[in-house]
Amino acid sequence: MQQDYISKKYSYLCTALGNNAYCIFYFMNPFLELGIRHEVVNAITELGFEKPSPIQEKAIPVLLTGNDDFVGLAQTGTGKTAAFGLPLLEQLDFSLKQPQALVLCPTRELCLQIARDLEKFAKFIDNVHVVAVYGGAPIGDQLRQIRRGVQIVVATPGRMLDIIGRNAIDFSGVRYVVLDEADEMLNMGFQEDINNILSETPEDKKTWLFSATMPREVRRIAQKYMTDPVELTVGTKNTGNENIEHQYYLTRGRDKYAAFKRIVDFYPDIFGIVFCRTKIETQEIAEALIKDGYNADSLHGDLSQQQRDKVMKRYRERNLQLLIATDVAARGIDVNDVTHVINYSLPDEVENYTHRSGRTARAGKTGISIALVSGKDQGKIRHIEKIIGKSFVRKSIPQGTEVCEKQLFSIVNNVHNVEVQEEQMNAFLPQIMESLQDLSKEEVIKRFASLEFNRFLEYYQNAPDLNIDARESRGDRGRDSFGSGRGRSNGYTRLFINLGSVDDFSRGDMLGYICNNGKISGKSVGKIDLKGVFTFFEVTDDVVENVFQGFNGVDFNGRSVRVEVSGDERGNERGGRRRSGGRDRGPSRGGNRNRGGGFRDFSGKRKESKSRY
Ligand code: ADP
Repeated sequence: MQQDYISKKYSYLCTALGNNAYCIFYFMNPFLELGIRHEVVNAITELGFEKPSPIQEKAIPVLLTGNDDFVGLAQTGTGKTAAFGLPLLEQLDFSLKQPQALVLCPTRELCLQIARDLEKFAKFIDNVHVVAVYGGAPIGDQLRQIRRGVQIVVATPGRMLDIIGRNAIDFSGVRYVVLDEADEMLNMGFQEDINNILSETPEDKKTWLFSATMPREVRRIAQKYMTDPVELTVGTKNTGNENIEHQYYLTRGRDKYAAFKRIVDFYPDIFGIVFCRTKIETQEIAEALIKDGYNADSLHGDLSQQQRDKVMKRYRERNLQLLIATDVAARGIDVNDVTHVINYSLPDEVENYTHRSGRTARAGKTGISIALVSGKDQGKIRHIEKIIGKSFVRKSIPQGTEVCEKQLFSIVNNVHNVEVQEEQMNAFLPQIMESLQDLSKEEVIKRFASLEFNRFLEYYQNAPDLNIDARESRGDRGRDSFGSGRGRSNGYTRLFINLGSVDDFSRGDMLGYICNNGKISGKSVGKIDLKGVFTFFEVTDDVVENVFQGFNGVDFNGRSVRVEVSGDERGNERGGRRRSGGRDRGPSRGGNRNRGGGFRDFSGKRKESKSRY
């Protein structure tokens, strides 16, 4: 109260004196009373910090003693950066050029923001060096900054470990480790990385953990790495992401792909991440979707960092509507506005379900996490429910007519909202009017809507009900329609290799590459189906083993080359099913949904709106 009064009083004074009032104002800024030095108060006053936020008011006095481990429960946006940043600036020795504080946070955006904020707070202190260490950017610059000497390292866990692994940083002088948004870091699957990083820091450092929620895993970190931490809560405790709705659809294995597409079609504005269990399944689903005219691409561990960055860039910029990913590759994805997470296959580890679903409903938004399950997997749903403490809603796979209705109204909506380029349009308008003059307004509307709608109508007009009765499904051992066989036919075996056109292979190059490595003649090679990041090729059954042996241990540009039977369970990955010939193709033939996505024809100029990707 006293602080409020002082702050108010002096802010009146400031207003009266105009900008010159800073000098007077920061003398009375309540941060001074908390024990923050003048230089820092000057800097934060410039940033408009007139009085501490509740977490700052409570945490700063505790952290300034430097004696305790600390757990602060506070939502994002409550001012945590200054709550730990200001005490750090008070306690580090900036005459030394050695890391003394390490701040770990979940995303590169947050990492950059924290580093920038700390630099701003330290604007009037000499020799403060902060480095932001995060993935997806050249490591060279970050290493150079570290070599030049830094006192505060702000990092995302993956890149930090990379740098530790290169022996490029000395953490022996670290006195403080801050775990910011600890729950989110664990959601993203960074648990092990955090453990490894913490084990590189001195025993007697102090650990300050901030989190919006206190799930068991965060509690476990606090127990394992902290001694009698001081615990503070600001605002209401949040027990989990309440904004995620968990749904599951029961489907027969053989209908799974069709059911999946039906769900996707039922949400015309979907901007989703689809999780698969294996790299091959990821590739195949993405490939099938692309062939069926959807705007999709895959993200998995066989892609180089550069390829992954490229896919992520497209997704981030919403030039992709569906990202098909493995758990490992999707770790750390921090794209806002993901509307749906779809578990095409449930993860083996329940923990991964939390990581997956946490990719939606970020930054206060709502989201839906969907699981496609067969009857025998229903038990897994119950298990997940217990672990996450939330119930799933069982949903019916939409009927063809329902999908059509949804699409129709989406088209109508797009017609309604399309941005008309008046000037360009006016030039053509008289001609258009003339061509349509024999049609009534109703006729014109009907025809415009039908342009897109007919595809769906045609595709779904005789679409079967894909729902199954839960009891029927328990005995279901059906195979995924997506693939049901092994890679053999007509004396040929169909193989998969994790190289493709993005690696600058033409079909001829690939033929040569296969023959050279497999030490087989070109005559033994059948069809070569060159894709973006992988290739399917046929070889006669008698040379299959030669090919495996030939490619054993082969590297391509530093990446290990993997050859597998398409449709076999060979190697270290499950799945990898051969695509069945009778696969259910989507309504999107003709590629209208590709690239520009959605209903481009109706939306006119593409703009950065949610419905066009
Ligand atoms: P969190 O880390 O909890 O998500 P931030 O530290 O990023 O939150 O703070 C959120 C916003 O509030 C930032 O723009 C920050 O500059 C501002 N802010 C923080 N503390 C104060 C304060 N005491 N007075 C005014 N603005 C503040």
